[in-house]
Amino acid sequence: MAKKVAVVAVGGNSLILDPKKVTVEDQYLAAAETSKHIADMIEAGWDVAVGHGNGPQVGFILRRSEIAAKTEGMHEVPLDVCGADSQGAIGYALQQTLQNELIQRGIKKSVATVVTQVKVDKNDKAFQNPTKPIGGFMEEDDAKRREKELGWNVVEDAGRGWRRVVASPIPKEVVEIEAVKELLRAGTVVITVGGGGIPVVDDGKGGCVGAAAVIDKDFASSLLSQEINADLFVISTAVEKIAINYGKPDQKWIDKMTVAEAKKYIEEGHFAKGSMLPKVQAIIWFLENGGKQALVTDPPHIGAALRGETGTWIVP
Ligand code: ADP
Ligand code: MG
Repeated sequence: MAKKVAVVAVGGNSLILDPKKVTVEDQYLAAAETSKHIADMIEAGWDVAVGHGNGPQVGFILRRSEIAAKTEGMHEVPLDVCGADSQGAIGYALQQTLQNELIQRGIKKSVATVVTQVKVDKNDKAFQNPTKPIGGFMEEDDAKRREKELGWNVVEDAGRGWRRVVASPIPKEVVEIEAVKELLRAGTVVITVGGGGIPVVDDGKGGCVGAAAVIDKDFASSLLSQEINADLFVISTAVEKIAINYGKPDQKWIDKMTVAEAKKYIEEGHFAKGSMLPKVQAIIWFLENGGKQALVTDPPHIGAALRGETGTWIVP
Protein backbone atom coordinates (compact mmCIF):
# COMPACT_ATOMS: atom_id res chain seq x y z
CA MET A 1 0.00 0.00 0.00
CA ALA A 2 1.57 3.24 -1.14
CA LYS A 3 -0.49 5.55 1.01
CA LYS A 4 -0.28 5.60 4.76
CA VAL A 5 -3.08 3.84 6.57
CA ALA A 6 -4.62 5.03 9.81
CA VAL A 7 -7.20 3.42 12.05
CA VAL A 8 -9.47 5.94 13.75
CA ALA A 9 -11.49 4.69 16.71
CA VAL A 10 -14.45 7.01 17.28
CA GLY A 11 -16.07 7.06 20.74
CA GLY A 12 -19.72 6.00 20.91
CA ASN A 13 -20.34 9.12 22.95
CA SER A 14 -19.06 11.50 20.26
CA LEU A 15 -21.81 10.10 18.03
CA ILE A 16 -24.31 11.43 20.57
CA LEU A 17 -23.36 15.04 21.34
CA ASP A 18 -26.02 15.75 23.95
CA PRO A 19 -27.56 12.97 26.08
CA LYS A 20 -30.87 14.85 25.92
CA LYS A 21 -30.82 14.95 22.12
CA VAL A 22 -30.77 11.41 20.87
CA THR A 23 -33.19 11.29 17.95
CA VAL A 24 -31.93 9.70 14.76
CA GLU A 25 -31.68 13.20 13.29
CA ASP A 26 -29.47 14.32 16.20
CA GLN A 27 -27.30 11.24 15.74
CA TYR A 28 -26.88 12.13 12.05
CA LEU A 29 -25.81 15.67 12.94
CA ALA A 30 -23.21 14.22 15.32
CA ALA A 31 -22.02 11.74 12.68
CA ALA A 32 -21.77 14.57 10.13
CA GLU A 33 -19.60 16.55 12.55
CA THR A 34 -17.26 13.58 13.13
CA SER A 35 -17.18 12.90 9.38
CA LYS A 36 -15.80 16.39 8.70
CA HIS A 37 -12.78 15.65 10.87
CA ILE A 38 -12.23 12.23 9.29
CA ALA A 39 -12.46 13.92 5.87
CA ASP A 40 -9.69 16.32 6.99
CA MET A 41 -7.50 13.28 7.54
CA ILE A 42 -8.33 11.81 4.17
CA GLU A 43 -7.67 15.17 2.54
CA ALA A 44 -4.28 15.21 4.28
CA GLY A 45 -3.45 11.98 2.44
CA TRP A 46 -4.38 9.18 4.82
CA ASP A 47 -6.24 6.01 3.92
CA VAL A 48 -8.59 5.43 6.79
CA ALA A 49 -10.34 2.53 8.51
CA VAL A 50 -12.90 3.73 11.05
CA GLY A 51 -13.77 1.78 14.19
CA HIS A 52 -16.46 3.10 16.51
CA GLY A 53 -18.20 2.55 19.82
CA ASN A 54 -21.91 1.72 20.20
CA GLY A 55 -22.64 1.93 23.94
CA PRO A 56 -25.62 4.31 23.93
CA GLN A 57 -26.94 3.03 20.59
CA VAL A 58 -26.90 -0.67 21.47
CA GLY A 59 -28.61 0.32 24.75
CA PHE A 60 -31.47 1.88 22.76
CA ILE A 61 -31.79 -1.19 20.53
CA LEU A 62 -31.93 -3.52 23.54
CA ARG A 63 -34.46 -1.29 25.26
CA ARG A 64 -36.73 -1.30 22.20
CA SER A 65 -36.48 -5.07 22.05
CA GLU A 66 -37.36 -5.41 25.75
CA ILE A 67 -40.35 -3.04 25.55
CA ALA A 68 -41.70 -4.64 22.37
CA ALA A 69 -41.39 -8.10 23.93
CA LYS A 70 -43.19 -7.00 27.09
CA THR A 71 -46.02 -5.02 25.57
CA GLU A 72 -46.49 -6.44 22.07
CA GLY A 73 -45.33 -10.03 22.42
CA MET A 74 -42.55 -9.46 19.87
CA HIS A 75 -39.46 -11.70 19.98
CA GLU A 76 -36.48 -10.35 21.88
CA VAL A 77 -33.27 -9.59 20.01
CA PRO A 78 -30.14 -11.46 21.17
CA LEU A 79 -27.13 -9.35 22.12
CA ASP A 80 -24.97 -10.32 19.13
CA VAL A 81 -27.81 -9.36 16.77
CA CYS A 82 -28.24 -6.03 18.60
CA GLY A 83 -24.53 -5.49 17.93
CA ALA A 84 -25.03 -6.26 14.24
CA ASP A 85 -28.02 -3.88 14.09
CA SER A 86 -25.93 -1.12 15.67
CA GLN A 87 -23.04 -1.68 13.23
CA GLY A 88 -25.46 -1.37 10.33
CA ALA A 89 -27.20 1.75 11.60
CA ILE A 90 -24.10 3.61 12.82
CA GLY A 91 -22.20 2.46 9.73
CA TYR A 92 -24.97 3.86 7.54
CA ALA A 93 -24.88 7.23 9.34
CA LEU A 94 -21.10 7.46 9.04
CA GLN A 95 -20.85 6.21 5.48
CA GLN A 96 -23.53 8.58 4.24
CA THR A 97 -22.25 11.67 6.08
CA LEU A 98 -18.59 10.93 5.23
CA GLN A 99 -19.40 10.17 1.59
CA ASN A 100 -21.36 13.44 1.33
CA GLU A 101 -18.47 15.35 2.90
CA LEU A 102 -15.99 13.83 0.42
CA ILE A 103 -18.26 14.68 -2.54
CA GLN A 104 -18.49 18.28 -1.32
CA ARG A 105 -14.70 18.47 -1.22
CA GLY A 106 -14.34 16.91 -4.67
CA ILE A 107 -12.53 13.83 -3.29
CA LYS A 108 -13.27 10.72 -5.34
CA LYS A 109 -13.37 7.94 -2.76
CA SER A 110 -16.06 5.56 -1.73
CA VAL A 111 -17.02 4.68 1.83
CA ALA A 112 -18.38 1.29 2.90
CA THR A 113 -19.34 -0.45 6.13
CA VAL A 114 -18.37 -4.03 6.82
CA VAL A 115 -20.52 -5.85 9.37
CA THR A 116 -17.68 -7.37 11.34
CA GLN A 117 -17.42 -10.38 13.61
CA VAL A 118 -14.56 -10.54 16.09
CA LYS A 119 -13.47 -13.89 17.48
CA VAL A 120 -12.97 -14.28 21.19
CA ASP A 121 -11.74 -17.29 23.15
CA LYS A 122 -14.48 -19.44 24.71
CA ASN A 123 -12.07 -20.01 27.60
CA ASP A 124 -11.32 -16.32 28.13
CA LYS A 125 -11.46 -15.90 31.90
CA ALA A 126 -13.84 -12.95 31.43
CA PHE A 127 -16.60 -15.53 30.79
CA GLN A 128 -16.19 -16.89 34.32
CA ASN A 129 -16.77 -13.47 35.83
CA PRO A 130 -19.06 -11.32 33.65
CA THR A 131 -19.08 -7.71 34.84
CA LYS A 132 -20.46 -5.52 32.05
CA PRO A 133 -24.09 -4.45 32.79
CA ILE A 134 -26.34 -4.56 29.75
CA GLY A 135 -30.04 -3.79 29.09
CA GLY A 136 -32.67 -2.38 31.41
CA PHE A 137 -33.40 -3.03 35.09
CA MET A 138 -35.54 -6.06 36.03
CA GLU A 139 -37.57 -7.20 39.03
CA GLU A 140 -35.83 -9.87 41.08
CA ASP A 141 -38.21 -12.70 40.06
CA ASP A 142 -37.85 -11.82 36.35
CA ALA A 143 -34.05 -11.73 36.74
CA LYS A 144 -34.01 -15.09 38.54
CA ARG A 145 -36.29 -16.67 35.92
CA ARG A 146 -34.03 -15.51 33.09
CA GLU A 147 -31.01 -16.77 34.96
CA LYS A 148 -32.60 -20.22 35.17
CA GLU A 149 -34.27 -20.41 31.76
CA LEU A 150 -31.82 -18.47 29.59
CA GLY A 151 -28.57 -18.95 31.49
CA TRP A 152 -28.13 -15.22 31.98
CA ASN A 153 -25.82 -13.81 34.63
CA VAL A 154 -27.72 -11.29 36.70
CA VAL A 155 -26.66 -9.01 39.54
CA GLU A 156 -28.31 -6.61 41.94
CA ASP A 157 -27.18 -3.14 40.96
CA ALA A 158 -26.68 -0.88 44.00
CA GLY A 159 -30.31 -1.09 45.18
CA ARG A 160 -31.64 0.11 41.80
CA GLY A 161 -32.82 -3.30 40.66
CA TRP A 162 -31.46 -6.32 38.82
CA ARG A 163 -29.46 -6.24 35.62
CA ARG A 164 -27.93 -8.66 33.23
CA VAL A 165 -24.12 -8.71 33.11
CA VAL A 166 -22.02 -10.10 30.28
CA ALA A 167 -18.35 -10.80 29.75
CA SER A 168 -15.95 -8.41 28.03
CA PRO A 169 -13.35 -10.81 26.57
CA ILE A 170 -10.14 -9.91 24.72
CA PRO A 171 -10.58 -9.79 20.91
CA LYS A 172 -8.46 -12.41 19.12
CA GLU A 173 -9.20 -12.12 15.42
CA VAL A 174 -11.17 -9.91 13.03
CA VAL A 175 -13.06 -12.50 11.00
CA GLU A 176 -13.63 -10.30 7.92
CA ILE A 177 -10.05 -8.92 7.90
CA GLU A 178 -9.30 -9.98 4.29
CA ALA A 179 -12.35 -8.10 3.01
CA VAL A 180 -11.29 -5.04 5.03
CA LYS A 181 -7.77 -5.21 3.53
CA GLU A 182 -9.15 -5.61 -0.01
CA LEU A 183 -11.34 -2.54 0.42
CA LEU A 184 -8.45 -0.49 1.81
CA ARG A 185 -6.21 -1.59 -1.08
CA ALA A 186 -8.94 -0.40 -3.47
CA GLY A 187 -8.85 3.01 -1.76
CA THR A 188 -12.21 2.61 -0.04
CA VAL A 189 -12.74 4.16 3.38
CA VAL A 190 -13.87 1.24 5.55
CA ILE A 191 -16.05 1.38 8.64
CA THR A 192 -15.46 -1.78 10.64
CA VAL A 193 -15.31 -3.45 14.10
CA GLY A 194 -18.24 -1.24 15.17
CA GLY A 195 -18.96 -1.50 18.88
CA GLY A 196 -15.82 -3.63 19.19
CA GLY A 197 -17.17 -6.11 16.66
CA ILE A 198 -19.85 -8.76 17.03
CA PRO A 199 -18.36 -11.24 19.50
CA VAL A 200 -18.22 -14.78 18.13
CA VAL A 201 -16.61 -17.99 19.33
CA ASP A 202 -15.40 -21.11 17.54
CA ASP A 203 -18.34 -23.38 16.68
CA GLY A 204 -16.12 -26.47 16.82
CA LYS A 205 -16.40 -27.00 13.04
CA GLY A 206 -14.04 -24.28 11.89
CA GLY A 207 -16.78 -21.66 11.85
CA CYS A 208 -18.21 -19.12 14.26
CA VAL A 209 -21.27 -18.68 16.42
CA GLY A 210 -22.45 -15.50 18.17
CA ALA A 211 -21.60 -15.02 21.84
CA ALA A 212 -23.47 -13.02 24.47
CA ALA A 213 -20.61 -10.66 25.30
CA VAL A 214 -19.32 -7.20 24.45
CA ILE A 215 -15.85 -6.36 23.21
CA ASP A 216 -14.12 -3.13 24.17
CA LYS A 217 -14.01 -0.99 21.02
CA ASP A 218 -10.56 0.41 21.86
CA PHE A 219 -9.11 -3.12 22.06
CA ALA A 220 -10.90 -4.21 18.87
CA SER A 221 -9.58 -1.12 17.03
CA SER A 222 -6.09 -1.90 18.34
CA LEU A 223 -6.36 -5.47 17.01
CA LEU A 224 -7.54 -4.10 13.66
CA SER A 225 -4.55 -1.71 13.59
CA GLN A 226 -2.21 -4.64 14.24
CA GLU A 227 -3.82 -6.89 11.62
CA ILE A 228 -3.61 -4.27 8.85
CA ASN A 229 -0.18 -2.97 9.97
CA ALA A 230 -1.57 0.54 10.36
CA ASP A 231 0.95 3.38 10.26
CA LEU A 232 -1.06 5.22 12.87
CA PHE A 233 -3.73 4.35 15.47
CA VAL A 234 -5.91 7.32 16.45
CA ILE A 235 -8.36 7.22 19.34
CA SER A 236 -10.84 10.06 18.95
CA THR A 237 -12.63 10.74 22.23
CA ALA A 238 -13.97 13.54 24.43
CA VAL A 239 -10.63 15.05 25.51
CA GLU A 240 -8.00 16.91 23.47
CA LYS A 241 -5.16 15.27 25.40
CA ILE A 242 -4.51 12.67 28.07
CA ALA A 243 -3.65 14.06 31.49
CA ILE A 244 -1.87 12.88 34.56
CA ASN A 245 -3.58 13.81 37.84
CA TYR A 246 -6.70 14.17 35.69
CA GLY A 247 -9.32 16.46 37.26
CA LYS A 248 -7.01 17.36 40.18
CA PRO A 249 -5.45 20.75 40.96
CA ASP A 250 -2.05 19.53 39.74
CA GLN A 251 -3.44 18.12 36.47
CA LYS A 252 -0.88 18.12 33.65
CA TRP A 253 -1.65 17.51 29.97
CA ILE A 254 0.69 15.11 28.19
CA ASP A 255 2.02 15.97 24.72
CA LYS A 256 4.03 12.81 24.21
CA MET A 257 4.78 9.64 26.15
CA THR A 258 6.57 6.36 25.58
CA VAL A 259 5.17 2.92 26.36
CA ALA A 260 7.43 2.77 29.44
CA GLU A 261 6.07 6.10 30.67
CA ALA A 262 2.48 5.03 29.94
CA LYS A 263 3.02 1.86 31.99
CA LYS A 264 4.41 3.87 34.87
CA TYR A 265 1.38 6.22 34.78
CA ILE A 266 -0.97 3.19 34.74
CA GLU A 267 0.82 1.83 37.79
CA GLU A 268 0.36 5.20 39.52
CA GLY A 269 -3.39 5.09 38.75
CA HIS A 270 -3.63 8.13 36.45
CA PHE A 271 -6.09 6.61 33.96
CA ALA A 272 -9.67 5.86 34.98
CA LYS A 273 -10.90 2.28 34.61
CA GLY A 274 -13.54 1.92 31.91
CA SER A 275 -12.64 5.19 30.17
CA MET A 276 -8.99 6.23 29.65
CA LEU A 277 -7.32 3.07 30.96
CA PRO A 278 -8.57 0.75 28.18
CA LYS A 279 -7.48 3.32 25.58
CA VAL A 280 -3.93 3.50 26.90
CA GLN A 281 -3.81 -0.30 27.26
CA ALA A 282 -5.09 -0.75 23.68
CA ILE A 283 -2.39 1.63 22.44
CA ILE A 284 0.36 -0.18 24.36
CA TRP A 285 -0.86 -3.46 22.84
CA PHE A 286 -0.55 -1.91 19.33
CA LEU A 287 2.89 -0.40 19.97
CA GLU A 288 4.26 -3.62 21.47
CA ASN A 289 3.21 -5.49 18.34
CA GLY A 290 4.92 -3.43 15.67
CA GLY A 291 2.91 -0.21 15.86
CA LYS A 292 4.96 2.96 15.39
CA GLN A 293 2.76 5.74 16.74
CA ALA A 294 -0.63 6.41 18.28
CA LEU A 295 -2.62 9.53 19.00
CA VAL A 296 -5.39 10.41 21.44
CA THR A 297 -7.38 13.59 20.84
CA ASP A 298 -10.94 14.83 20.29
CA PRO A 299 -12.58 15.11 16.85
CA PRO A 300 -12.14 18.91 16.37
CA HIS A 301 -8.38 18.60 16.97
CA ILE A 302 -7.61 15.65 14.69
CA GLY A 303 -6.36 17.95 11.89
CA ALA A 304 -4.10 20.04 14.15
CA ALA A 305 -2.88 16.95 16.01
CA LEU A 306 -1.81 15.32 12.73
CA ARG A 307 0.24 18.44 12.04
CA GLY A 308 1.92 17.82 15.41
CA GLU A 309 0.30 20.79 17.12
CA THR A 310 -1.77 19.04 19.78
CA GLY A 311 -3.16 15.73 21.08
CA THR A 312 -1.23 13.16 23.08
CA TRP A 313 1.23 11.13 21.02
CA ILE A 314 2.32 7.73 22.25
CA VAL A 315 5.40 6.02 20.82
CA PRO A 316 7.25 2.74 21.52
P1 ADP B 1 -15.26 7.03 24.55
O1 ADP B 1 -16.74 7.07 24.36
O2 ADP B 1 -14.55 7.84 23.51
O3 ADP B 1 -14.69 5.64 24.71
P2 ADP B 1 -14.80 7.40 27.42
O4 ADP B 1 -15.75 8.22 28.21
O5 ADP B 1 -14.84 5.92 27.58
O6 ADP B 1 -14.97 7.86 25.90
O7 ADP B 1 -13.28 7.86 27.74
C1 ADP B 1 -12.87 9.20 27.61
C2 ADP B 1 -12.94 9.92 28.95
O8 ADP B 1 -11.90 9.47 29.82
C3 ADP B 1 -12.69 11.40 28.90
O9 ADP B 1 -13.84 12.11 28.53
C4 ADP B 1 -12.24 11.71 30.35
O10 ADP B 1 -13.34 12.19 31.10
C5 ADP B 1 -11.84 10.36 30.91
N1 ADP B 1 -10.50 10.29 31.51
C6 ADP B 1 -10.19 9.47 32.53
N2 ADP B 1 -8.91 9.58 32.89
C7 ADP B 1 -8.35 10.51 32.06
C8 ADP B 1 -7.04 11.07 31.93
N3 ADP B 1 -6.04 10.68 32.72
N4 ADP B 1 -6.83 11.99 30.98
C9 ADP B 1 -7.84 12.38 30.17
N5 ADP B 1 -9.10 11.89 30.24
C10 ADP B 1 -9.38 10.98 31.18
MG1 MG C 1 -15.07 4.27 26.30
